[in-house]
Amino acid sequence: MSTKAVSTGSYGNLRLLISGKWHESESQDLHPVFNPALGRVIARVPFSTKEEVVRAVDSAEEAFAAWSSLPITDRIQFLFRMKEVLERHAKEFAVLNTENHGKTLEESRGDIRRTIENVESAISIAYTLAKGTSLDQVSPGIDEIMVKEPLGVFALVCPFNFPVMIPFWFLPYAIVLGDTVVVKPSEVTPVPMQKVAELIQEEVGLPPGVLNVVHGGAEVVEALIGARGTRGVTFVGSTPVARRVYRLAGENGKRAIVNGGAKNSIVVMPDADLDRSVPPIISSFFGNTGQRCLAGANLVVVAGAERQLIDRFAKSASALRIGNGLAPETEMGPMVTMSAKQRVQNYVQKGIDEGARLVTDGRVARVEEFPEGFYLGCTILDDVTPSMSTAQDEVFGPLASVLHVETLDEALNFVNHSTNYGNMASIFTSSGRTAREFRRQANAGNIGINIGVAAPSAFFPFGGMRDSFFGVAHPQADTVDFFTDKKVILSRW
Ligand code: NAD
Repeated sequence: MSTKAVSTGSYGNLRLLISGKWHESESQDLHPVFNPALGRVIARVPFSTKEEVVRAVDSAEEAFAAWSSLPITDRIQFLFRMKEVLERHAKEFAVLNTENHGKTLEESRGDIRRTIENVESAISIAYTLAKGTSLDQVSPGIDEIMVKEPLGVFALVCPFNFPVMIPFWFLPYAIVLGDTVVVKPSEVTPVPMQKVAELIQEEVGLPPGVLNVVHGGAEVVEALIGARGTRGVTFVGSTPVARRVYRLAGENGKRAIVNGGAKNSIVVMPDADLDRSVPPIISSFFGNTGQRCLAGANLVVVAGAERQLIDRFAKSASALRIGNGLAPETEMGPMVTMSAKQRVQNYVQKGIDEGARLVTDGRVARVEEFPEGFYLGCTILDDVTPSMSTAQDEVFGPLASVLHVETLDEALNFVNHSTNYGNMASIFTSSGRTAREFRRQANAGNIGINIGVAAPSAFFPFGGMRDSFFGVAHPQADTVDFFTDKKVILSRW
C-alpha cells in the first residue's frame, strides 16, 4: 500500500452517550480534532455543558441499582461479548487509533491487543479477586465475613496517547465489579473511544446508563468530580493536571487513582550487548513518536559503553522511516498536534542553547506527500547535563537526551534524584548482579531489565511512583479494591 492509498475518515460532530442513547451536545463550544498525518480536521468535539455532565452522571447512578444487583456471573457475560466485539472490530479500531493519534498501525494493533487483554483480565478477576473472605467461629457462636460491594459511578478521565487502551485500564474492571462509568476521552484524540463505545453500545447490549461518554476539557473534569453522584475518578495525564485532579478528588471526598507524567531514564552499562540493546532502546525513545509515558527520555551512558553506542543509536534513529502511520512502511508517525510538535522543537533549541551537542536534528524532517502533517524526525542531544531543561522536563516527543556518568551508583543517583518522576527506569547489562542492584535501588514503578518499554501486562498493576502516581491502587488488575468497598459482617444465630 502506498501512503497515497491511505484513507481518512470524517466523523462530523462527536456525540455524547447518556442513558444508552447518543445525543448531539447542546454546547456551542466545538473544537477541531485532527488527523495529524495529514494535518486535516476529521471531527469536531463538543465540550459538554455542565447540565450534560450532570445528566450523564445521573444516568450512570440510575443504572447502578439494577446493574450492581445483577449476579456477577451475568455481568461477566457482557464482558465476554465485549471481548468478542473488540476482537471482531480490532482492525478498524486500529485504523481509527492511527488516524486520530498518528502512531503506526503496528503500534495501534498493540494498543488494541492490550485493550482486549484488560477485558480478559477483568473477567478472570471477577471470578477470583472479587470474592470476600470469612472466618468461622471468631468468638463462640460468631462468624465473621467480609464482602466486596460495588460503590456507584466512576468518572474515567483519559489522556491523548492511548485513546482506547487507557480507558480500558479501568472500564472493564469497574463494570464487571458492578459499578457504572462516565468516560471522558481526551479532547485531542476522542474519535477511537467514541467509535468503540458506539459498537459496544450497539453490539454488547449493556443496559442503558452503565457506560456513558461525555467530551470536553478541564471544566468537564471538574464537573465530573464535583457531581453529587460520582464516587471516584480515575485519571491519566500530565503531572500538573494530575496534582489538581487529586486535590479536587480529595476536596470532594472522592476516591482517586491518578497517574501523572514521566521522564524515564535508560541506563546502558559497558557490558550491555549492543546488538540486542540498540533496537529496544530505539523503540523506547522513538516508538509512538516518543509520546508514551514509558518512553525513554534520558539515555544514561555508563563510562565504557559510549563509543559504539552513540554512533549506533544515532545511525538507527536517522534511518527510521517517518510517514503516515497507515502506510505499512512507516516506522514513526507524526506528533499528535502542531503545538506538540512545536513544543519538542522548542526543547531541542533550548537544549542547544544550554550547551548540549546536536547529534541528529529531527526538526528538519519533512514528508513530501503530506506537507501539512505534524511530522518530526528523531533528535539526539549529547553531552546533556542533569540541570539542563531537556534532562529535567517531560518533553513527550522524539527527543533523546544523552548523559554520561562514571559508575552504576552515579547512574542510580541520576535516576532517583534528577527529577521527581518515577514512572519507568530501564537498564541494559549482561550482569545479573548489576540488574538486581538496579531493580532494587531504582525508584520507579516499572522497571525494565534489557527491556526498553517495561509495560506491565493487564493482569499486573501498571506501576508509577513519586510525581508519576498519586493514590494507592494502580491501573489494570490492581483496581479491585478501588472499585469496591469492603463490608464486614459479624453474625450469631
Ligand atoms: P493532559 O494532562 O493534558 O490531559 C489529560 C486529561 O486531563 C484530558 O482528558 C484533559 O481533558 C484533562 N485536563 C486537562 N487540563 C485539565 C485541568 N486543568 N483540570 C482537569 N482536567 C484537565 O495530558 P495529555 O497531554 O492528554 O497526555 C499526556 C500526558 O499523560 C503525559 O504527561 C504522559 O506522561 C501522561 N501519561 C501518563 C501515563 C501513566 O500511566 N502515568 C500514561 C499515559 C500518559
